Amino acid sequence: MKPPPPIRDPRLLGLCATCVHVRPVVSAKGSVFWLCREPTLPKYPPLPVRRCPGFAPEAE
Ligand code: SF4
Repeated sequence: MKPPPPIRDPRLLGLCATCVHVRPVVSAKGSVFWLCREPTLPKYPPLPVRRCPGFAPEAE
């Protein structure tokens, strides 16, 4: 059975927690990395992200 997606904790991720561009990447050992798929920005920004020109909030 597929595990549930990792929780997007805004205390850890900042803006990325609610951004359409973020995707969780889970390593073979179970570590979670948060990939930014906005093409003009670094793929793995330091977290939490407090300001970001690419931030686009997810629709509720
Ligand atoms: S665009 Fe900014 S806020 Fe959105 S996932 Fe990338 S770094 Fe995070």
